[in-house]
Amino acid sequence: MGKSISKSHEEYKRDQIKCRGMVEKYSFKQGVGKKRYFILKESSLGYSKSKDMPLSHVIQIDQTFKILYEDLEKREISIECTNKRGENALWKLIFPSQKSTEKWSEKLKKAVRPVWQDPNSERCTVCDKNFQVFRRQHHCRKCGKVICSAHCRVIEGLPELGYNERVKICSNCVNRIGNINGVERAKSLSEKESLKASAFKHKSVFMSPQSMLE
Ligand SMILES: [Zn+2]
Ligand SMILES: [Zn+2]
Repeated sequence: MGKSISKSHEEYKRDQIKCRGMVEKYSFKQGVGKKRYFILKESSLGYSKSKDMPLSHVIQIDQTFKILYEDLEKREISIECTNKRGENALWKLIFPSQKSTEKWSEKLKKAVRPVWQDPNSERCTVCDKNFQVFRRQHHCRKCGKVICSAHCRVIEGLPELGYNERVKICSNCVNRIGNINGVERAKSLSEKESLKASAFKHKSVFMSPQSMLE
């Protein structure tokens, strides 16, 4: 696994992220699973009843969109999002194969990465000092803000954003995340997200047959 740190600004212009295919969507609120044709675009996720039909539901990949839990062997990814009615929704997505689960996992994580702040910004978000030869500009992979070298930290990865290599993040994000244990973080999602995910799993275990029929 590469240990290099990307220095290029090319990442600022993110790839057009696209992924599509049949996915079984299980809604906990409705208690039912439905097969739908999903399309992931750079900042939205939509689905229709079949490949040839127009999208019947599109959700924005914004700050409310989170990957709560994934199990590649079970071919499942659970997400939290704001549905088209503006309500908080929990969906479990079940993919046709392990390979497609891996692909969707990678693409979804890239889609939740923050949009990078304009590299023409002249000042560090943390200390407000101007960038110059000895105070170079960096981008925080966690929040996307521009920062100076004094406020740039390197951590062992941000797996929830699909970074499994060393990445730069700002000192503000380090404080928000709390004590970073690179090894721990590389293994799983952040603690808060894991807690949410376990609550989510708990819910699925105790879903009564009655509510499944509603
Ligand atoms: Zn600074
Ligand atoms: Zn940050």
